[in-house]
Formats: sequence, C-alpha cells, structure tokens
Amino acid sequence: MEEKKVVLITGGTRGIGSEIAKKFAKEGCNLVLNYVSDSTDVEKIKSEFDEYGIDVLVLKADVSVFEDCENLVKEAIAKFGKIDILVNNAGITKDTLIAMMKEDAFDKVIDVNLKGTFNVTKNVVPYMMKKRSGNIINISSVVGIVGNAGQSNYAASKAGIIGFTKSLAKELAPRNIRVNAVAPGFIDTDMTSVLSDKVKENINLQIPLKRMGKAQEVANVVSFLAGNESSYITGQVINVDGGMVM
Ligand code: NAP
Repeated sequence: MEEKKVVLITGGTRGIGSEIAKKFAKEGCNLVLNYVSDSTDVEKIKSEFDEYGIDVLVLKADVSVFEDCENLVKEAIAKFGKIDILVNNAGITKDTLIAMMKEDAFDKVIDVNLKGTFNVTKNVVPYMMKKRSGNIINISSVVGIVGNAGQSNYAASKAGIIGFTKSLAKELAPRNIRVNAVAPGFIDTDMTSVLSDKVKENINLQIPLKRMGKAQEVANVVSFLAGNESSYITGQVINVDGGMVM
C-alpha cells in the first residue's frame, strides 16, 4: 500500500481551510490542522475525521509568530516524519479606508497573511528540500490582483503572496517542489458573513456566475494543484471566482 501523504493546512479548522482538510481526508491523507483561537474545540474537530481512517493532528500556532511556526512544524515532523503538501490558508481582514486605517490594522493583516505565509513556509521547506519533493499552495485573493477600496492592507498582503509564490516556484523547481497560488473571489465563509445582504446582492450582480463561491469549490482546485494531475504547473495563480476577474 502507498504511504499516506501528509498535508499541513494553516487555519485548517474553519471555512475554506476546513473544506480543504475534508477534501484531503477523502483522498486518504494524514492531516496537520492549525488554528489560533482559544475557543477552538480540538476534540470535536478531530472527531469530524473519524470516518476517514487517517491520523489528524490539530495544533495551535499563531502564524504571525515565527517561533510558533517553528514549533508547529517540529510537532508535525515528530508525529509524521514529513510534510508532503503545505497549504498556507490562514488569513484575516481588517477593512477600512486608508483615511481611517490605523497602523496596527495594516501591520496585523500583513503579519498574519503575508509574514505568516513566510513563517510557515520557511520552516517546512528544508524538509521538502531534503526529500526532493513537495507541494506548496498559497491562498491569495482576487483582491490581491485587482485591488478593492477599503482593503488596501489585505490587497497588499495578498499581492505579496503572489510575488512570494512566483519567486519560490523559481527557486524550488530544481528540487522538485511546486509552488502555486489560488485566488478566490467571494466565498461563503465566516470571513464574508459580516457583509450585509445588500452588499452581497451587489457583489453577486458583478459576478458572471451570479453567486458567491463555496469553500468546497476552492478546495477542489487546491487538491488539483497538490496532485499529479497538475505535475507541469508551477508559479501560477488560479482564480476561483465565478469569472469576476478575467
Ligand atoms: P475564515 O472563515 O475567517 O477562517 C480563517 C482561518 O484562518 C481560521 O481557521 C483562523 O483560525 C485562521 N487564522 C486567522 N488568524 C490566524 C493566525 N494568526 N494564526 C493561525 N491561524 C489563523 O476565513 P476563510 O474565508 O475560510 O479564508 C481562508 C483564506 O482564504 C484566507 O487566507 C482568506 O484571506 C482567503 N480568502 C477568502 C475569501 C472569502 O471570500 N472567504 C476570498 C479570498 C481569499 P481560528 O479558527 O483559530 O480563528
């Protein structure tokens, strides 16, 4: 029997991350799911994977803190001995117009979304380089491509992720490590549940497919990029946005 792949997903206990976790669980991968919030019910999350016959490690770490990420990766390696697939998914928003944006709102979003992606990747890559294989998928956003009023901090962090992705794809290709990004449009999760129905209606009107996306629809593309079917794809940004950005 083939050895199970090990997938580390940051922010893997809710929203898009949780659906990515379920997709890989269905494929028979062992999972390391990261979260940050104290209210997370670790045992309940683990039990959601009972049916799949896989091992699941659920670990607290603030991706914006380098030391937390060092420990996260060490614990994952201690348990599974390798990480085959890394999904940098953890992310936050602190939306406001530049006139109102406090320095802290800019720093926090960059620290979690962009620096967090660096912090985890930096600790995972040596293990992938050693075994000369690996797959990294970074969750960006269409906002990082086209911008959005009121989201200059978030857009900067997500655009930064795209530059980071392309640079690492070039750097790590000789080691047989592929690095790609997924840029979701508006996806129905806690992150977008703060938007009013009126705002959601207006957004839907601007989407050619006329609806918000589902977290599973993002997970499907992450799974494709992590698998052999995409073996000749690296350094790309795949939009999952119902046609919003073309
Ligand atoms: P969500 O429902 O708000 O979930 C965010 C996840 O990130 C949670 O699991 C959260 O952990 C984790 N997280 C936040 N800060 C963290 C930190 N400092 N350290 C570790 N984990 C942290 O968001 P989502 O909609 O699923 O978004 C997932 C990713 O997709 C994000 O990068 C987001 O920017 C991106 N995205 C989302 C949309 C959308 O429309 N929803 C569109 C484009 C891109 P806790 O549960 O512990 O809080």
